[in-house]
Amino acid sequence: MPTKDYYDILGVSRDASGDEIKRAYRTLARKHHPDVSHDKSDAEHRFKEINEAYEVLSDPNKRAQYDRFGTTGNGAGAGAGDFGFGPGSFGDIFDMFFGNVRSAAQPRAAGPQRGSDLRYDLEVGLEEAFTGATREISFNHLAQCEICRGSGAQPGTLATPCDRCSGSGVMRTARQTPLGQIVTQSTCTKCGGEGHVIEHPCQACVGRGRREIERHLTVKVPAGVDDGSRIRIAGNGEAGIRSGPPGDLYVYLTIKPHAVFRREGLDTYVDVPVSFTQAALGAALSVPSLEGDVAVTLAPGTQTGTTMRLRGRGMPSVRGSQRGDHHVTVHVLVPTKLNKRQRELLEEYGNAGGDAVDDRSFFERVKDAFRPD
Ligand SMILES: [Zn+2]
Ligand SMILES: [Zn+2]
Repeated sequence: MPTKDYYDILGVSRDASGDEIKRAYRTLARKHHPDVSHDKSDAEHRFKEINEAYEVLSDPNKRAQYDRFGTTGNGAGAGAGDFGFGPGSFGDIFDMFFGNVRSAAQPRAAGPQRGSDLRYDLEVGLEEAFTGATREISFNHLAQCEICRGSGAQPGTLATPCDRCSGSGVMRTARQTPLGQIVTQSTCTKCGGEGHVIEHPCQACVGRGRREIERHLTVKVPAGVDDGSRIRIAGNGEAGIRSGPPGDLYVYLTIKPHAVFRREGLDTYVDVPVSFTQAALGAALSVPSLEGDVAVTLAPGTQTGTTMRLRGRGMPSVRGSQRGDHHVTVHVLVPTKLNKRQRELLEEYGNAGGDAVDDRSFFERVKDAFRPD
């Protein structure tokens, strides 16, 4: 990376005196300050460059090193390009030029702050999601201290205005620099920006105004909730700070996998085994659903894998009266153990023509596939 010529940037000669450098810097800094320059796009870059050059050339040690090596080796020069806007550099210049104009950015006594939101993960069963449920939950959270009611001061005592910052929460420090007096503002170190001091802190919360306590709550889980459903319980998060409002509690739901039913959105699914004879002859079946057993009729000749859709027997929706469907898929079981009588009957069934597999289209397709062209 090419080294910047700091003398060139400030427009001074290599043997310029400290006073000449300071004068050149003042002139340029006022001219190129981003808030006064007419050329906004370039001003910030130029301003940084000018500051960078001045920081090096105004310091005899850095200047000597720069003259010898073309760099200061400590990150302040050599085109590091990330000249800070921190309170030690840019901020001071800002204060010098604009004094109190920058009111929006000034620190001030800290005001009320809303408490944090909390998340609680709750797992419910599919049946609970179907009917809705009431669950007791308990969790630790920062609540307003009930002894001092959040003030942080021992009951019967009061917080007193901070004498160091006169209750403003802000300290102003003036110091002399080559550029004139620079006033910086910072958060008051005595009261931490609160603007008041608690002489007798509440013993229960050590003056914090909040304490961690265990909280018990009853959560109403509405019917129809799904994985990822979120219940907001307003005002049950952490207590606010300095009389700020409390945060909210969010209960995130997950639904436990069910041993019998699957669920997709509002629809539910179940696999039901049926016997070979039920499938062949037809049968009246009783199949499980989330609201108990449901009677269905199996048509004669039902194939394995056939799904029956029971409309409106699935999950309810959380909002509205909509209901999903319940899908019943039958699986025809082939008997694995036959007693003597059953075996005889099945053999007789086979001999009576039951061995013929009546699916002509399948054999046609096989024939077509192997027919020579
Ligand atoms: Zn307290
Ligand atoms: Zn203070």
